[in-house]
Amino acid sequence: MRTWVLYGFFLVITVIVSMILFQAITDHADVNVRTASHEFDGREITIDPDEVNQGSLVLVNQEYPMNDAFTIEGDLVTLFEQQQVTTFYSLLNEKIQLPLPIAEKFNQMVNDAHEDGVEQFLLTSGYRDNEAQARQYDERGSDYAMPPGFSEHNTGLALDISSIEGPIESSTEGRWVEEHSWKHGFVIRYPKGKEEVTGIQYEPWHLRYVGIPHSVIMHEKGFVLEEYIDFLEEEKSLVVELDSDEAYAINYYPKEQLDRVVIPNEQPYEISGTNKDGIVVVVEL
Ligand SMILES: [Zn+2]
Repeated sequence: MRTWVLYGFFLVITVIVSMILFQAITDHADVNVRTASHEFDGREITIDPDEVNQGSLVLVNQEYPMNDAFTIEGDLVTLFEQQQVTTFYSLLNEKIQLPLPIAEKFNQMVNDAHEDGVEQFLLTSGYRDNEAQARQYDERGSDYAMPPGFSEHNTGLALDISSIEGPIESSTEGRWVEEHSWKHGFVIRYPKGKEEVTGIQYEPWHLRYVGIPHSVIMHEKGFVLEEYIDFLEEEKSLVVELDSDEAYAINYYPKEQLDRVVIPNEQPYEISGTNKDGIVVVVEL
């Protein structure tokens, strides 16, 4: 009898260990980040120093305010009037605005959630001009809001979500976003446990668009944006392979090297500044 109890015990332990291992494998097997450089057919160009303060990877926080030269990419649209990009979520009010490309990415993500049966998303905030940000700062205080110019909402790259069912942290929508948003280029910008790095309390509702492959690497390595940019500055060249056979070369150039930035002759590429000291070139391989 005792032997059977023992066998049963081992069986349970084996099943639990297998489940943990399986989880670990399925969570991480789909990304390979190598700190190596990749040669591609390209040419050297000179990048305007203003580019350091532009693009979807800009760091905007207490230390690095949004630069006056920052321009929003795409048209800033009032979502209430844009039914084609608000298919699967509700709007808190009629005034919420986002740049159209970001609204499209968000709608695609929510569309994916919808296919998983998660469909109670509410968009509570998008782009904020300085006046709206000042109101927010007065109402919410410095633990949760930033003064005008220091908020990601000023760039149009951030948005706040909620669930119609209740607080985002205890909702199906919140859990879904936590698990899947990185696949769509979004990150939870102020996660739990990183308060010391971000200077902001845990905000499960605040999503920031950084784009692929950055969101994938940040997820894989557990980096917030501050840490990811430090990582790029240090490594300078990365090759990242995603499960879908997609691969990217990422090259960081400090300010002093903007006169010799290599861009590919053929492949698609994207350039973004870090809003600190350089720019990042992403090349699809
Ligand atoms: Zn926010």
